[in-house]
This record gives sequence, structure tokens and C-alpha cells, in this order.
Amino acid sequence: MGRFCFHAKAKPMTEHPTHCAGCGVKLPPPSPKANRGRKWCSDQCRKKTLYSPPCIDCGTPTNGTTPSKHKGRCKACGQRHVAEVARAKSEPIDQAVLELRRQGYLNWAIEDKLGLPYNAAASRLCRMRRRGVEVPPSPYWFPAAAQEER
Ligand SMILES: [Zn+2]
Ligand SMILES: [Zn+2]
Repeated sequence: MGRFCFHAKAKPMTEHPTHCAGCGVKLPPPSPKANRGRKWCSDQCRKKTLYSPPCIDCGTPTNGTTPSKHKGRCKACGQRHVAEVARAKSEPIDQAVLELRRQGYLNWAIEDKLGLPYNAAASRLCRMRRRGVEVPPSPYWFPAAAQEER
């Protein structure tokens, strides 16, 4: 009786994935004993990929590279989304600050009125100016206007 040969029994190696189907890292060459190459770099990667739905914004697999705060989005879309949310939150405050400045309020008075932290009005107005928004100068430099306000 001839020696039992695993290789004869094994299915022919039709495909040898060279890169992880999940994260795309290069895989080591399949071992000669394996009847097929590995498809995943790790079991963790396989699970993450199979159970990570495509990014809800751009459709690329989230691949488990997505921090939980980017739920449902790939890293790039997640970061963009976070920035958009922050802007959407920030914009009304910017407008309120700008409106009070137009009315001639000093920075500290604006912060006081809107419950903003120290220096927030100044930095918001400065950012708006940099974006090209026309921001009236602080009445601090025009004492007459500042006194009128009190
Ligand atoms: Zn992988
Ligand atoms: Zn995406």
C-alpha cells in the first residue's frame, strides 16, 4: 500500500490570495501543506471585515479601521463628518458673536451674554475675519462706542 498522500487528496490550489481580503496587507506565501492560501491576515481582520458594513457615506468597507466615534463611516468620511458636525454646532454661535459685535459689544461682554469661555469671542471673530467675513473692529479701540453700551 502506497503512502497516504495529503497533496493528492487536497484540492488543487486554484487561488492564492496575496493580500488580505480585509485590510489589504500583503500575506505571507501559503504554506505548502495548506490546501489553499490564507485569505485574511488574521481572524480578527476577517471578523472586522465581514461584520463591518460599507461606509454609509462612500461605500468603502469600514474594515474595522474605523474608531467607534465614526460609526458606520470609514476613517476619512468619519473625520469629515465630525468636522461638519462641529461646524454646524459652531456656526450659530459664530453668528451670534458677530451680531453682538455689530451691536458694539466688547469681547468679554459677548462671552458673558452667550455664556462662552474666556477668549472665545475673540478667537471666533478672528477665525471669521480669516474666512473673509467682515467683522467690525472691537469697540475697545473706540471708547465712545463702548461707553454708549453701558
Ligand atoms: Zn487584514
Ligand atoms: Zn467613507
